[in-house]
Amino acid sequence: MEQKSIEKKELYRCPECGFEYREKEWAEKCEAWCREHKSCNLEIIQHAVQK
Ligand SMILES: [Zn+2]
Repeated sequence: MEQKSIEKKELYRCPECGFEYREKEWAEKCEAWCREHKSCNLEIIQHAVQK
């Protein structure tokens, strides 16, 4: 049996770096970080959705 647990949930995208997150919280953190530091924070992007 094939189990498909892909949630058709909307993803939250950081407009600065383009990473997508399931949680709005992370997307907001990422965006704030990207704007301020002009770089990505590994602690944050590890929560991004892998494509
Ligand atoms: Zn970002």
